[in-house]
Amino acid sequence: MNRPIYMDNHATTPIDPRVLDAMLPYLTDQFGNPSSRNHAYGWRAEEAIDEARARVAALLGCSAKEVLFTSGATESNNLAIKGIAAANREKGNHIVTLATEHKSVLDPCHHLERDGFEVTVLPVDAEGLVSAEQVRAAITDRTILVSVMLANNEIGVIQPLAEIAAAARERGAVVHTDATQAVGKIPVAVNALGVDLLAITAHKFYGPKGVGALYVRTRTPRLRIAPLFEGGGQERGIRSGTLNVPGIVGLGMACAVAADLLHEEAERLQRLRDRLRARIVDRLDGVTVNGSLVHRLPNNLNLSFAFVEGEAMIMAMDDVALSSGSACSSASLEPSHVLRALGRGDELAHSSLRFGLGRFNTEQEVDAVAEKVVAVVGRLRELSPLYEAPRAASGASPLQGSEDTSWSH
Ligand SMILES: *Cc1c(COP(=O)(O)O)cnc(C)c1O
Repeated sequence: MNRPIYMDNHATTPIDPRVLDAMLPYLTDQFGNPSSRNHAYGWRAEEAIDEARARVAALLGCSAKEVLFTSGATESNNLAIKGIAAANREKGNHIVTLATEHKSVLDPCHHLERDGFEVTVLPVDAEGLVSAEQVRAAITDRTILVSVMLANNEIGVIQPLAEIAAAARERGAVVHTDATQAVGKIPVAVNALGVDLLAITAHKFYGPKGVGALYVRTRTPRLRIAPLFEGGGQERGIRSGTLNVPGIVGLGMACAVAADLLHEEAERLQRLRDRLRARIVDRLDGVTVNGSLVHRLPNNLNLSFAFVEGEAMIMAMDDVALSSGSACSSASLEPSHVLRALGRGDELAHSSLRFGLGRFNTEQEVDAVAEKVVAVVGRLRELSPLYEAPRAASGASPLQGSEDTSWSH
C-alpha cells in the first residue's frame, strides 16, 4: 500500500524506533508500579522513571525534581494556569496571554474569567509576534500569571520569550510557556528563557501520545500550584495518579534522541523547508508566507494561496497528509484563530496550508509535495472565476512579491 506523504508533524509525529524499543519492556515484563516499595517490580519501574526524569531535565536544562509527569501538554497547560490561579488568588486575579496561543491555554484562561479572573489577551503584529513592551504594559499589580507560548503550532513563529519573561518577573508575575512545538526543534533552556513553568508533550517530538511533562521551577518563595486531581499524592502531590511508566520511558528516550540530533536536524529541516518554499513560490504567483520567516521554527511553513480554498487543495491531494487553516481545532470550517490574529481577514485562513516537516521527511518527499501543490493550485485556479493569470507581457503581476497582496472578494 502506498501511504500518503506525512507532512503534518505539528499535529503529531511518528514514534522514533529508538523510543519504541525503550518502551517495550515496560509494556511487558517490567510492568511494576513505581509506587510499590516492597519488591523488585516496583524498584525497576522507579529506576526507569528516575532515568526518564533525568533525561527530560537534561534537555530542558533543569534539575530532575523540577519535572512533573502529566498526560500531555493539554494537561500541563491546564495544571499550570488553573493551578497557579487557584493557589494565588489572594495575590491577584489578572492573567496575561496571547491571541495566538493553543486552545489548551486560551480555554483554561476563559474558564477562569467566568470564575472572576481578568484575562488580557494580547494581539500579535502582522508577523505573529508580540513584544516584551506590550507584555510589560499589560501587567498590573494584580497580575499573577503571564502565559506566552514559545513557538506557535500553526505558523511556527517564535516569541521573544526571554525578554517577555524578564519583563514579567520584574513585576513579580509567574511566567508559564507552552513549549510543545519548540522542544526538540530549537534549544529550550528554562534558565536562559527565565520561565517558571513550561509544558511539553512527547508525541510532538517522536514520542508516544498521552504523556508529557510540566517543568516547575524550584524557587523561594515556593511556587504554589493547586492540583487538578487528588489521590495517591504522586508527583509531589501536584499530580496524583499511577505513573504511565512505558509512556514516561518513551518521553525520556524522545528527549535523549532529540538532544542528540537537535542541531543537525534543525539545519536539515530548515534547508528542506526553504527548498519547499522556493519550489512553490518560484512557480506560483499570489502566495503569501504567514508569520515571520526570521523568528520561526526550522520545520514550519504556512502559506496562503490567493483564490484557492485550503480545504479544496487538501481534498485534491489525498496522497499528502497536510493541514489547512480552517477546520484545525474542530470538525467545523472555522477559520484558524491564529491566522485571524495576523489581521488580514478570513480569506488568509481559508486559503492556507500548513506544512510541518519532520525527522522522517526526505528531499524527494519535499520535491514531490511542491510538485503536487503547484499542480493542484494551478488546476483549482483555472476553475476559479475570480483568478486572472498574470500576463507575462505586462511584466510584474499585481500578485507577485505578494507580502502585501490582498484578495478580498
Ligand atoms: C499539540 C499541542 C498541545 C496539546 O498537546 P496534547 O499532547 O494534545 O495535550 C498544546 N500546545 C501546543 C502548542 C500544541 O502544538
